[in-house]
Amino acid sequence: MYYERMIIRPPSEANSFLLPVTIGCSHNKCTFCGTYTGVKFRIRPLEDIKRDIDKVAQHYSWSLRRVFLEDGDALIAPQPRLVEVLKYLNKKFPHLDRIGTYATPQAALIKSIDELKELNRLGLKIAYMGVETGDEELLKKIDKGASYDQIVEAGRKIRQAGITLSVTVILGLGGVEGSQNHALKTAQILSDIDPDFAGALTILLVPGTPLHRDWEKGKFSLISPFQSLEELRLIIQTSSFTNCFFTANHASNYLPIKARLPQQKAAVLKLIDEVLATKDMSRLRPEFTRAL
Ligand code: SF4
Repeated sequence: MYYERMIIRPPSEANSFLLPVTIGCSHNKCTFCGTYTGVKFRIRPLEDIKRDIDKVAQHYSWSLRRVFLEDGDALIAPQPRLVEVLKYLNKKFPHLDRIGTYATPQAALIKSIDELKELNRLGLKIAYMGVETGDEELLKKIDKGASYDQIVEAGRKIRQAGITLSVTVILGLGGVEGSQNHALKTAQILSDIDPDFAGALTILLVPGTPLHRDWEKGKFSLISPFQSLEELRLIIQTSSFTNCFFTANHASNYLPIKARLPQQKAAVLKLIDEVLATKDMSRLRPEFTRAL
């Protein structure tokens, strides 16, 4: 299997066959992200991808249920390439339940709704998209490469195509000064997208990234653990979902939260309020155990 470097995948893809279709991220500019620093983005040749599929199919042809297309933005691959890959996966693994991919908003926007539906028919059942924030100014500052409206359009398009949408936002991305605005606007963009799954991560500064350099120069201030909970509270309180499984249980988060929203909104707000009222650090994940 061709893994050029450490592979990143969503936690829910832990048991999936991780298949590199692209290398790196087509955007690779977000100021907080060091995942693909120095990695030249490219789309792998079809024959190389098929060779990897063949190797895994030798042993797992009848048992494999899930495949996750790597790397950071496999959806950006040209439609004919993706169609070929998906068809070949279905041929080699007849019992596939689900194929997943990361998707930048840009990748979803350049695909037509019919193209996304075609991928869905061929087994693409879930796409993971980084939203990060709903604050328009902050989106520019972090060089997300997509505006509020474009991100909403991309998310809605994925869902319209029948593909389950899982999005992530980042607590603390606006720093101390921008904290409240970031939380309020993030709740708004999440409500506008209305995803199936939403996950809140908490900012972790990665050495070598522009955001880390801003922090070193005093241009960016990290929020405290309890401020991250206040952001989380504001997002949950002011967002409006039809039916979303909301999590903040990533290794970067201080307080693990899982809730079906809106059904469990009151219960989860009560839990956050209890922790905020006590300011008891022992209720939070210790700093040294936090990870990306
Ligand atoms: S789109 Fe995702 S993988 Fe690419 S630079 Fe931004 S955060 Fe990193």
